[in-house]
Amino acid sequence: MQTITTVAELRGALANVRDKRVGFVPTMGYLHDGHLALVEASRAQCDVTVVSIFVNPTQFGPTEDLSTYPRDFLRDEKLCRDAGVAIVFAPEEREIYPAQFETFVEPGELAKSLCGAFRPGHFRGVATVVCKLFNMVRPDIAFFGQKDFQQCAVVRRMALDLNLPIEIVTVPTVREPDRLAMSSRNRYLNKEERRRALSISRGLLAAEAEFRVGERNCEKLIAIARQHLDEVDRLQYLELVDADTLEPASGPLSHPAALCAAAYVGSTRLIDNVILKP
Ligand code: AMP
Repeated sequence: MQTITTVAELRGALANVRDKRVGFVPTMGYLHDGHLALVEASRAQCDVTVVSIFVNPTQFGPTEDLSTYPRDFLRDEKLCRDAGVAIVFAPEEREIYPAQFETFVEPGELAKSLCGAFRPGHFRGVATVVCKLFNMVRPDIAFFGQKDFQQCAVVRRMALDLNLPIEIVTVPTVREPDRLAMSSRNRYLNKEERRRALSISRGLLAAEAEFRVGERNCEKLIAIARQHLDEVDRLQYLELVDADTLEPASGPLSHPAALCAAAYVGSTRLIDNVILKP
């Protein structure tokens, strides 16, 4: 496995494998089994897997956790090596955002609801860095986690709108044994918060279970999830949205939808979702 920190080196390394299928897994590091599921999916479908590790400043708001975001590069490197990654691309901020950087990718409607409503500029930062990383790696397939459902939608739309010749694959959310969605931010939780954080997945999975046995009424499905969500400190949103347009679903569900939640437990903001396919 090669660890690479500059775009020039990355292009050099990838020049030798252009006849192979290149899979790409963008991350912000502090890797867990959710990230490794993306690596596994890439290894299954591609010949060469590139993982980027870059805590992207443009997707953090001014009061968010950029400076405290968990980092452990040596551990990440070992996890990647053990998982069969070919290249870890871990650039410094200046490599991605040189002085006088001023060109951004601006997503549209898909970025306005859900997390976009509470994190202004977040998806602009995501779309920009993902587009840049796509241009650096030029992968055949890029892998994203369903946990960040809106991010998947925004990236998929961007790839279509900007004619990026890259297949976008969404990998199901990996959960802890007690069903909490894995997240680098889970490490912020103390024991008591960790216990209360479980109410998020409990709510979403309860709604999913009712959906599986035939409940199709959107309002009822939301109400089932909400019952469990009283243990979080602040529920930011709990919404059932059309899986393609992210517009609110209502009445009887006839089209795939995502039940999405964002909540604060202590000072940690967590997100999760389940996809309901009638
Ligand atoms: P992050 O490092 O949090 O930016 O995440 C990098 C990629 O890993 C994104 O595509 C995430 O959606 C994905 N990811 C994060 N957590 C999970 C999880 N629990 N299951 C599956 N994918 C995940």
